[in-house]
Amino acid sequence: MITQAAVFRAVGAPLSIEPITLDAPRASEVQVKVKAVGLCRTDLHVMRGERRVAMAPMVLGHEAAGIVEQVGNAVNGIAPGDHVVLTFIPGCGRCRWCARGLHHLCAQAPRITQGPQLDGSYRRSDAQGRDVGAFCMIGGFAERTVVDQASVIVIDKDVPLDLAALVACGVPAGVGAARHRAKVKAGDSVLVVGCGGDGMNVVQGARLCGATTIIAADVVDAKLDWARGFGATHTVNARGEALTKAVLDLTEGVGVNHAFVCIDPPATLLPAFRATQKAGNVVVTAITPDTVKSIDIPPIELFATQKAVMGAVYGFISPRLQIPELLRLYRTGDLRLAELITRTYALADINQGYADLDAGKNLRGMVLFD
Ligand SMILES: [Zn+2]
Ligand SMILES: [Zn+2]
Repeated sequence: MITQAAVFRAVGAPLSIEPITLDAPRASEVQVKVKAVGLCRTDLHVMRGERRVAMAPMVLGHEAAGIVEQVGNAVNGIAPGDHVVLTFIPGCGRCRWCARGLHHLCAQAPRITQGPQLDGSYRRSDAQGRDVGAFCMIGGFAERTVVDQASVIVIDKDVPLDLAALVACGVPAGVGAARHRAKVKAGDSVLVVGCGGDGMNVVQGARLCGATTIIAADVVDAKLDWARGFGATHTVNARGEALTKAVLDLTEGVGVNHAFVCIDPPATLLPAFRATQKAGNVVVTAITPDTVKSIDIPPIELFATQKAVMGAVYGFISPRLQIPELLRLYRTGDLRLAELITRTYALADINQGYADLDAGKNLRGMVLFD
C-alpha cells in the first residue's frame, strides 16, 4: 500500500514529506495505523548528522502509538484493533540480555540505526523503487508502519494514544533514569540539567521517588517555569561553573545526591559532576554527537570523590515492564502526561515542529493523524 511519510534523505535537509510503498507484514510482523508520534530530539540529531544512521532514505520517528490493522501468522498476543506503543529498542527475546528481562540492553539495539527490519529485509520503498529504512525499526513518521512484534507493546484502550506515545521514549527515559538507574530515595537531592523531554521527566521521576530538593537547570526560562509545575523545588538559569556554584549554594556546599545530564553532555557533564556530592551519582540520558570522542573528567576528581558516572537508556529497565507501570501511574494521577504536549502538528508540518523544538518552544511537539 501507499502511505505518506516524513523521510530523511540527507544530512542538513528538511524531512521530505512523500508517499512511500509499504509492504504487508511478514510472519512475525504487525501493521500499525500510527495515531500519534512525538518529535524527540534524537531524530533532530539524525537530521543534523550528529547521530549517524547507516542509510538514506529512512523514515524517522520512534515515539509512536497506534492501532494494529494486520498481523503476520506467527504473531502471538497481538490482534487487529489492539492499541499499541512501539518500543525503540526491539527486545528480541532471545539474547542473554532479553533472557534476563533487560530488553533495554538487547543485543539487537545497535542495529536500530541501520534501516532494515529486525529480519534484515526492507518493507518500504520510494517512488524510484529504492529501499527505504525505518529508524529504530519503527519509522513512526508515517501514516502506517510495519514492525516486528518484538517492537510492540499492547496497552489498555482507555489511555488516549497521544499520551500513550509519550511513554514510548521521553517519559520512560526520564522517569526511569531517576527511579531505576540512580534509584533516587525519599529525602534525596537531585539536579536535572536540561529540562526538555527527558529532563522534565527526570524531574517528575525524582518527585515520584520522594526527592525533597529537585533543582532544574536550563538556559530557557520558560522550561524552568514548566519544571516547577512538574515538581522542581528550585530552578537555575546558568551553565558551566556558574551552574555548579548555584547548585552548591543550594545544597550547603556539598552538592546533590544525583545529577542528571539531559542535554549536551560535552558542555554539561563536568559542571554536573562537580555539583554532585561525594559518592553521588551522575546519570547521562542525552546523546552526544558522534563527532565528539571523549568528555573530560579529571581522573583524580573521579577517584577521590568516589562518584559514579553512568548511562541510562530507556530508563534502565525493560520497556515491557516500565510502559505498563507508567500508564498505571498516569491513571492514579501520579504521572503527568497531557502537560508534556506543548503543540500538535500535521505530518506535513513536521519540519516546523522541529524548528519549534530547536527554538526551545516545545517541551514535546506531537504529530497527530486522523
Ligand atoms: Zn526519543
Ligand atoms: Zn534481545
